[in-house]
Order: sequence, then structure tokens, then C-alpha cells
Amino acid sequence: MIAMTAMPSVAEAARGPWSSSTWFGPGGEATLAGVPLVRIAQEFGTPAYVLDETDVRLRCRAYRSALPRAEIAYAAKAFLCRAMADWVRAEGLSLDVCSGGELAVALSAGFPAGRIIFHGNAKTPRELQTAVAEGVGRIVIDNIAEIGRLAALVPLGRRQKVLVRVVPDIAAGAHAAVRTGREDQQFGLSIASGAAGEAVARVLAQPALVLAGLHCHLGSQITAVEPYEDAARVLVEQMARIRETHGVVLPELDLGGGHGIAYLHGERGLDLASLAARLTAAVEDRCAGLGLPAPRLIVEPGRAISGPAGLTLYRVISVKKALNHTYVAVDGGMSDNPRHALYGSPYEVRLVGRRPQGGMRTVTVVGHHCETGDTIAENVPLPADVHPGDLIAVAATGAYHHSMASSYNLTGRPPIVAVGPEGARLLVRREEAGDLMRRDVGL
Ligand SMILES: *Cc1c(COP(=O)(O)O)cnc(C)c1O
Repeated sequence: MIAMTAMPSVAEAARGPWSSSTWFGPGGEATLAGVPLVRIAQEFGTPAYVLDETDVRLRCRAYRSALPRAEIAYAAKAFLCRAMADWVRAEGLSLDVCSGGELAVALSAGFPAGRIIFHGNAKTPRELQTAVAEGVGRIVIDNIAEIGRLAALVPLGRRQKVLVRVVPDIAAGAHAAVRTGREDQQFGLSIASGAAGEAVARVLAQPALVLAGLHCHLGSQITAVEPYEDAARVLVEQMARIRETHGVVLPELDLGGGHGIAYLHGERGLDLASLAARLTAAVEDRCAGLGLPAPRLIVEPGRAISGPAGLTLYRVISVKKALNHTYVAVDGGMSDNPRHALYGSPYEVRLVGRRPQGGMRTVTVVGHHCETGDTIAENVPLPADVHPGDLIAVAATGAYHHSMASSYNLTGRPPIVAVGPEGARLLVRREEAGDLMRRDVGL
């Protein structure tokens, strides 16, 4: 067990988007929990994802202490491997999964099935079957068809707990592609159209299912508390309607994840203390107004747990002066970081491992893939003497990087190296050409 107490707040502003164990020295030194990033690059190669175990655990604890009566479920789709599942389990969190693959990894790491919540707008019959067979604690109903399908899978004498995912019709989230709280997108059941009410009635009519509560998820990279308060009120009102219509009081209220983080110096993520206070108050006030007992809150942070804990290390391969821009090309790119290509996301980049000479210059860091959109960071400052062989680090890549990585151009996915109190260790090895060829059964 790592001895830690407080939130990852120490010099947070000065540290910007870098994880809590990061230290930058005056001569270009850069360490994570005392381990030089240069050594990690030498031992494990580049590109490499580096994950700060202490930071992940601190974030789990910060959530548990900010919301001591709530259930905190880490959203595995942000990043999952067996070690991550184990840290999250040890820190007392539950786990959200949204595929058979995530479920398999979690179970293989010994994550208790009862603490797993299974999401998905199109869970396959096979995924539902596995989830029921493995004893997954709650399954989130996200379409009408899966209600009967799921009920038929529950063995006689057992009952499966479910949540019904509804659409509160609230716009929030950093980019259109990650907004899921509005009407007319593929997630959740519309309250306005009557689909949510129909799903609730159908679940209640299935003796094999137990309706534990309602769920919503507004989107991702949300930095304001207000949308969560609004969603809480909308869902509590629906819970009151369910009591009126069906005479049942639902014990759980799951407000999803989407809690934003800082990717750059000067940016602020969602304020956890403020979220905790205002969300709890919104639920309690609305419940009191409606004469409803306050349900147990569930929140599902993904990015806010693993994102700031990760960085990516790259080796500079070439520096090219084009007509108006300087391109610093590295040995990774959109295959390990698709977020710039998908959402235009900005990143903070730092030269590590040597003392730069001279001033700074504005460059664009690109990858080695055959696509002009293969950009990691546009118009960012790097030392003017940046040259091939240099090592650079990109901040806040612990969420939605490895989990969204591809093997485009048949580039293997980078390894994941954890740094903790015992030093650096490999969690997931690099994907080699042999791994890619093992799937290719042709000829
Ligand atoms: C993606 C997702 C989350 C986590 O989102 P973050 O932005 O990583 O916090 C939580 N719940 C559900 C249902 C999701 O789809």
C-alpha cells in the first residue's frame, strides 16, 4: 500500500497538466516518482506510455473522500489493463465496462463482478449472456429490445439488477463527438419521446429484473458543475414520476462521468470539491421538494482518474523547416494519439533529458503516419535547438490514448510502463510486427 493522504493538489497550478509525481529539473531533467524519463526510454524504447500509479491512486482517493457516501465507478474505456483494474479495486472503486473485452480483462484481474456496471447502446446477445453468467452487478438498459433479451438470460431463482439510461436533454462536453446528453443521438432513452417511460414499465414487468435506478451520461471533458446539477434535477423528477406511476422508489441515481481535466498549463479541470457539494445539494434539495428519499449517488469518472496520470514519450526523428512552419516528427503519432485528429485536442509538449541551448521556437509536432492530419500538437513552443534523437514528453495522455490506439500503417501499439514507489515496471508490452502477423492467417 502506498502511503498517501491528500488530493493531488500540491503545487497543482505550477505542475500544470503533468502528474503529481513529475519533477522537472533546471538542466532538463525529468523524473516520475524519481525515475528519469530518459531511463524509461532507454529501457522500454519509444514511443511509450508512462503511467503514474501514485497519481491514479490519489485520484481514486480524492473521489472517495469528496463523495464518501457515493459509489465511484471508474470508466474502464478511458484506460484498462489488468494492473489498472487491480489498483481501482484496491482503492475501493467500482468499474464501468462497455464491452466483452473490457469485462474479460477486469474479471481476469480478479475484479469482483458484483462491482461491475455494464454499459452500451448495442450490447450483443453474447455480451449480455456473459455479463449475466459472470454475475455483473448492474447492467444499464440502453434500448427497449435488450430488456426482454436480458430477462430471458437470467437463470431461474436469480434476479438481475439494472439501471435505465435516460436522455436528460442537456448539452455539455468539449466536442460534438463526445456529447451524449442531448436528444437525437444514439445513447440513452428519450424522456420526451416516452421511450424512457416505456423502458421503465417493461423492466418493472419482468420478474427476472430489478430496477435499481436511473442513469445518464452527459458527455466528456465537461468542466462546469451546472450541467450535472441540471441532470440530477431532471432525473430526480423522473424518479418521482416513477413512484407516482408504479409505486416504486428507486434506490440509486447514476449521473455518469465526463469530468474534465487540464491538458494545458492554465487550464482547469472540473472542480471535484465543488461538484461533490453542489451535486449532493441538488439531489437532496430536489428530493426533499418531492418528498422522495435521497438515492445513493453513483459517478463514473474515467478521464479524471487516469488521464492526468499518463504521459507519452517519443523520440524525435526529424526536424523539417517547411515554408511557414517547422515540423518536429516523432516515432509515434495518430496511432497512439488519435485525439488531435478526432477532436483537434491541444497538448503540452516538453523536451526532456538535456539542457536546451538558446531560446524557444514555435513548432508543430507530427507523427510518422501517412496522413497530413497526423498531428500531435500544433504551434507549440519547443527549444529552438530541438533535433533528431531528442526525447519529448506529451502530458495528460493516460485516458483515451492506449484505449483508442490503432495499428495504422501496421505500427505496433506502444507499451505501458507504470512508475510507482518501487520504480518502473512494464504493464503492457509493445505490440511487435509478430503480434500483428499472428492475426494474419492468410496466404
Ligand atoms: C465514457 C463514459 C464515462 C466516462 O467518461 P469520462 O469522460 O472518461 O469521465 C462514464 N460513463 C459512461 C456511460 C460513459 O460512456
